[in-house]
Amino acid sequence: MLAPVTNDRRLLLVHAHPDDESSQTAATMARYLAEGAKVTLVTCTLGELGEILVPEWAHFTPAELGQHRIGEIDAAMGIIGVDDHIFLGGAGRYHDSGMTTDEKGRAAVPDEMPDNAFWKADLLEAANLLVEIIRDRRPQVVITYDPHGNYGHPDHIQAHRVTMYATLLAASPSHRPDLGDPWQISRVLWNTHNTTRWAEAYEIARERGIELWPDGERDTDSFGPDPSKFVAVIETGPWLEVCRKALANYRSQVDTTHPFWQFFQIMQELPGSGETYLLGYGLPFPDSEVPSTDLFEGIAVSA
Ligand SMILES: [Zn+2]
Repeated sequence: MLAPVTNDRRLLLVHAHPDDESSQTAATMARYLAEGAKVTLVTCTLGELGEILVPEWAHFTPAELGQHRIGEIDAAMGIIGVDDHIFLGGAGRYHDSGMTTDEKGRAAVPDEMPDNAFWKADLLEAANLLVEIIRDRRPQVVITYDPHGNYGHPDHIQAHRVTMYATLLAASPSHRPDLGDPWQISRVLWNTHNTTRWAEAYEIARERGIELWPDGERDTDSFGPDPSKFVAVIETGPWLEVCRKALANYRSQVDTTHPFWQFFQIMQELPGSGETYLLGYGLPFPDSEVPSTDLFEGIAVSA
């Protein structure tokens, strides 16, 4: 591998829960760090309502799980090499909103949630917390979820809203000058499932007898967006070890022997598999025919 070169590329990622960054964007973070870019991760909640998979921790209260997950994300940051990690508004400012499923098995908003649940957050207040970070870190590229939160988790949808709102507010000189000098983000990318690779991995998993969704077959069109909309793919291949270690470190949430995570690893190992992005805002990529392999392509980078 080439030695990192110092440059002025700055990447900011906004995720909802500890572990989302490792399951969805670990290769992207590892690659840009290796290339000398600055990488900042903002996590919006502590993930207090995640399902606990380790029996000896089953007694954790949501608050205890939140504290535990601070340790897990700290360790993941060490594995990936990120040294700039922030909880939006400070650790515990926003609580995990939880998630339920509707009669069709789709993600839905629970009837009850804590008062400081991220889903209930005042959008301007939450966006201003992010505006201050954006104006300080001055990222050219920002990553968050698509408007559907990838699969509909309320906190992912809210992270999307807060990020898009903050992107506009941060650039406006008239908005809260006390939060820093205005900063224009060049491009916002929405991380999404690579529909094609998910369908391929699904077939392989079925051939191997891995029961992913025992309650019924999945319509593979439901895996993600139309692949023609993908604007960039960051290959996972060179970073597989980092991706695996970062994810496996989340023992409270991720059991790597579970059928879903077996499927996920099959998908990550497919040749050409990668973390996949849609264009959410800003500068299009120069070549619209083929997904780019560089999130900064076409952006003039200056200090
Ligand atoms: Zn999440």
